[in-house]
Amino acid sequence: MADHSIDIIDLEKRFDRTQVLKRINLHIRDGEFLTLLGPSGCGKSTLLRLLAGFEPCTSGCILIGDRDVSPLPPKARNIAMVFQSYALYPHMSVRANMTVPLEMSRLSFRQRLPGAALLSAKVRAIRKEITAEVESVAKPLGLEALLDRKPAQLSGGQRQRVAVGRAMVRHPAVFLMDEPLSNLDAKLRQQLREEIVDLHRRTGITFIYVTHDQTEAMAMSDRIAVMEGGEIRQCAAPQEIYDRPDYLSVARFVGATA
Ligand code: ADP
Ligand code: MG
Repeated sequence: MADHSIDIIDLEKRFDRTQVLKRINLHIRDGEFLTLLGPSGCGKSTLLRLLAGFEPCTSGCILIGDRDVSPLPPKARNIAMVFQSYALYPHMSVRANMTVPLEMSRLSFRQRLPGAALLSAKVRAIRKEITAEVESVAKPLGLEALLDRKPAQLSGGQRQRVAVGRAMVRHPAVFLMDEPLSNLDAKLRQQLREEIVDLHRRTGITFIYVTHDQTEAMAMSDRIAVMEGGEIRQCAAPQEIYDRPDYLSVARFVGATA
């Protein structure tokens, strides 16, 4: 098995003259569930976007296993990301939302044209394979009965599951989630929290989860990296952060009821 640990080394990000991330150093173990916890504006989403490759680093680098992925485009990184807004294609069915990423990577432009499947047995075989894979991801997420619906016909929780499913179909090595539960009500948050932890257990993928909710971080994570002002203040197991916060700011933030 390939090593999917992550090393973030001296990572900095500046937008014009504003320094948003200040020399971040962090090692994330292969298969770990690590949470970035911190108040709004501390740089959590920016750090995820750098990991996913949506933004270039100002300096420093990111290794996955032994490979420096910092110069690579998002597609070449084998990283999937679930956004706070879910970012589903509104005009497409759930099924289409989930098949698109696989079609883009396995079929050429010509093979994706309508009618290509009629002409080519190879295209039919690939499409059949993709359909089977999408259904196998949809089932444990409880999406089977929803595959023909449009996003507008789904509840918030269902949309969130589709966003997770769409990211999972590519079998990423690393899974990034940016406040995926923040638009949901408390009861659903609790339920989906458990589903995400379960997904992590089943897949063994390296998860980096972002939240500003300390209860969520405490309940879900192997380790928590507490961020403030573009820096990681402390990174440790939930119990240790709770018992022995290194900084007053960590104690304040973690002690606060969210
Ligand atoms: P968080 O996700 O922790 O709320 P963000 O990473 O979204 O924080 O933002 C961290 C800081 O970086 C904020 O002060 C924000 O205004 C700034 N920032 C984020 N993106 C940009 C950008 N594209 N241009 C300028 N400043 C940005
Ligand atoms: Mg954010």
